[in-house]
Amino acid sequence: MEEKDCIFCKIANGEIPAATIYENSDLRVILDVAPANRGHALIIPKEHFKDIFDIDAVSAGKVFSLATEVARAMKDVLHCDGLNIVQNNGAVAGQTVFHLHLHLIPRFEGDSVHVGWEPGSSTPEELQTLAKEIRKRI
Ligand code: AMP
Ligand code: ZN
Repeated sequence: MEEKDCIFCKIANGEIPAATIYENSDLRVILDVAPANRGHALIIPKEHFKDIFDIDAVSAGKVFSLATEVARAMKDVLHCDGLNIVQNNGAVAGQTVFHLHLHLIPRFEGDSVHVGWEPGSSTPEELQTLAKEIRKRI
């Protein structure tokens, strides 16, 4: 179902034009209008899912499955040295368009793209306790 006033619903369903790389009945792949690097692409489900907490496993699987094919095509064309896959969930995590999408960001030796975090610290006990807590809910 399309969400009113959602720009990615409109792009994914062809109501607003975008530079489309690929389209099937479930998904559209476009070039990001403000690319972090040349070739920065977005995989967008046609159905409106807000984020990872909202999407079902089968639909999410289709997104990542297509990413494998798009990534290889991008590598062939762009000759990138690597590629980051980024998927932001919630404003606090950097999400600005609240319709789930996967970023494919080609990386080139010496580029100045920033994706990442500073390594933190933990104890083995903390990790084990937390892992057990989360495992109980899966
Ligand atoms: P996020 O911050 O993960 O929600 O990413 C949203 C992305 O959508 C940003 O990288 C924007 O540059 C991109 N974007 C926003 N509007 C458009 C548009 N009309 N066409 C293509 N990309 C867009
Ligand atoms: Zn939407």
